[in-house]
Amino acid sequence: MFKANEAYLKLPGNYLFSEIASRVSEYCERNPDKAGRIVRLGIGDVTQPLAPAVVEALHAAVDEMAEAQSFRGYAPDLGYDFLRQAIAEHDFAARGALVYPDEVFVSDGAKSDSGNIQEIFSADARIAVCDPVYPVYVDSNVMAGRTGTYDASTGLWSDVTYMPCTQQNGFTPELPGPDADVSLIYLCFPNNPTGAVIDKPHLQAWVDYANEHGAVIVYDAAYEAYIADPMLPHSIYECNGARTCAIEIRSFSKNAGFTGTRLGYTVVPRDLKDANGVSMHGLWARRHGTKFNGAPYIVQRAGEAVYSERGRCETQAQISSYMENARIILEGLRSAGYTVSGGENAPYIWLKTPDGCSSWDFFDQLLESVQVVGTPGSGFGPSGEGYFRLTAFGTRESAQEAIRRIRAL
Ligand code: PLP
Repeated sequence: MFKANEAYLKLPGNYLFSEIASRVSEYCERNPDKAGRIVRLGIGDVTQPLAPAVVEALHAAVDEMAEAQSFRGYAPDLGYDFLRQAIAEHDFAARGALVYPDEVFVSDGAKSDSGNIQEIFSADARIAVCDPVYPVYVDSNVMAGRTGTYDASTGLWSDVTYMPCTQQNGFTPELPGPDADVSLIYLCFPNNPTGAVIDKPHLQAWVDYANEHGAVIVYDAAYEAYIADPMLPHSIYECNGARTCAIEIRSFSKNAGFTGTRLGYTVVPRDLKDANGVSMHGLWARRHGTKFNGAPYIVQRAGEAVYSERGRCETQAQISSYMENARIILEGLRSAGYTVSGGENAPYIWLKTPDGCSSWDFFDQLLESVQVVGTPGSGFGPSGEGYFRLTAFGTRESAQEAIRRIRAL
């Protein structure tokens, strides 16, 4: 009789979002008159439609696919040159960071890349993650059998190094100690869920640490477009030495509304070599070639349009609008006496629950008394307990209404 992959059986249930959905639907059943009043600030999905420049590029690419002369079949596994070049130029060269077009691997999004990247590292690589954390980094390593045993009482895996991000350290992780023995370090800035950012000296310290200790940093910059402070780095390759120790993952989901259109990319520099001199660029190319048949032509043309002058202008307007929501939420909560962070260079607002209330108790309280839905911080890891995440991706009206109601609590 066949057997399932035991590593998958170790995964705890997707507790967070299914639990949120079930509490909301149970509330709606009990209170049908209030169901229509619910304001959702829990989602990480965008709400604005694609920018006109992007839509035009999509239409034009569809027309090309309709003609024999311009029809395209399988895309190149690693991405079309027109997009890889636009990425290298606008996302890196323009910021003084050196990334060659052939080091850019175009994909269907940052979730797949951040989940798949662990495959090219040894089975005994020890991972380090922030706590709280975007769950994909840990779960993909659980599936690969790398994380040891799960302790349901603490919510921690035995073979994972956790780096608590708390109010005390400004929600930026401290470098692992000299004996930490971590080889794969996941960092995400601007951060989901805390909305924290990292400045260049701190990011440089991580790069130096990784180079000194033979570790790799997987740098998830999915929210890079939300950085408003000109002093903050947008890419890890703005730091000296990052080409020998860092992989960067980006997404078109949050800068251009591609959550349903699907496009992202990963940079693996040619200078990134393992202890035996093996090129990780070569391994990732091999993996892509075997398991991925390229992002759709029409979507890559849409991605190219994001970098056009009009595309940049229109997507920037969308980001600014979301960031105005963030400002409304942040300032509204602050003036109501809440301790809040994030929301200035990130679309996430991280608030401390009042009076030592647990994350889930606060969730219930907001749902029951003002019909506002957010995300309990404890769902992202033990250090998220006592915190709550709100997002700026809703409409202006939902942000204003949620704040009006929370203030009236
Ligand atoms: N990385 C982080 C930190 C995210 O929060 C998300 C989505 O919410 C992703 C990656 C996934 O992005 P994509 O839509 O490109 O798969």
